[in-house]
Amino acid sequence: MSVFADCQDIRKMAVFKEIDCPKCGAKESIEVIERDNLTTGDSICDQCGFTIPEGVVLERYLDELKQK
Ligand SMILES: [Zn+2]
Repeated sequence: MSVFADCQDIRKMAVFKEIDCPKCGAKESIEVIERDNLTTGDSICDQCGFTIPEGVVLERYLDELKQK
């Protein structure tokens, strides 16, 4: 079944990362799930509640934050 196959593909490609919060600087306070180089679901800082939205390229998003 194609639905089941899609589900397996998603699992294979999901990457879990813990990153430092770009806002408050807390170490590894944000758990990000990436799939196809895009974030999946909201990634929220444990310390300050800063949120990385779903569907962004993580590294590009963080670069843009630095530039502002
Ligand atoms: Zn934070």
